Amino acid sequence: MARNGIKLGTALLRGLSRKCPSCGEACAFRGYLKVVDTCPRCDTPLSLYPTDDGPAYLTMLMVGHLVIAPAFMLGIIDLYSPSELAIAGVISMGVLTLALLPIVKGVFLGLLWYLGLKHAR
Ligand SMILES: [Zn+2]
Repeated sequence: MARNGIKLGTALLRGLSRKCPSCGEACAFRGYLKVVDTCPRCDTPLSLYPTDDGPAYLTMLMVGHLVIAPAFMLGIIDLYSPSELAIAGVISMGVLTLALLPIVKGVFLGLLWYLGLKHAR
């Protein structure tokens, strides 16, 4: 299955690089997380695709698994005091969340565009 001749993997990779999932050439974002209203290259109405809270939930799930699980598995929990772990956890999870969120939102946008799930006008 493909949409406009574009496969799902291509749409997701374009979203991963924060590009328009339809043409893959123009940036789909204005700033850190704001999706542009329409793609300046192909006029796809990108703001109609409701990414909403999905990217935030997925990012939190990923960060939890990337930080907390290794801390338990590698025994880091036993090496430091609770206050040191709290500070390191807040910093590492904060940085990782801020880094992953725009990328995950781009992938979500690519998926929603591919599936044609958008707000009704
Ligand atoms: Zn475009």
